[in-house]
Amino acid sequence: MNKAFCKEPEQSGRPLCPRCGAEGQVVTGATLEAHVSAGDAETLAEPVAWCDTESCPVAYFDSLERSIDVGRASGIHWPKDPAGVLCACHGLTCEDVDADLAEGEPQRVRGIVRRAGEPGAECALRSADGRSCVARVQRVYVRRLSGGR
Ligand SMILES: [Zn+2]
Repeated sequence: MNKAFCKEPEQSGRPLCPRCGAEGQVVTGATLEAHVSAGDAETLAEPVAWCDTESCPVAYFDSLERSIDVGRASGIHWPKDPAGVLCACHGLTCEDVDADLAEGEPQRVRGIVRRAGEPGAECALRSADGRSCVARVQRVYVRRLSGGR
């Protein structure tokens, strides 16, 4: 078999955020369009990536160092929007996680993890970073469990 066909294309370099320099998470055009205006979406060329750095004001950017700030995007989830939801699909919030911790039983978190894995769940499309909410929900849970915000 020709080696070229086995090569991982993404190894050659994921786009780096022009503001903070972190590696971005490539998103689909559908994800981008779900969170910015059509006019803004047109200003970026594929591959478009999401900046996952908590303190960075950039939401999306492309390999030509053009970017769209969080303030111009909508439906941004925690932690870039500290008051934002964790799961844009099912509406889980940080308060829900706090309630779970207060009750000592992660019922809400378990429910979301279960529902996110079901067919028809749109977490990946509705999440600004194009990924399922499960990793994010677990991140908050573990962080709060250890006393962090
Ligand atoms: Zn950034």
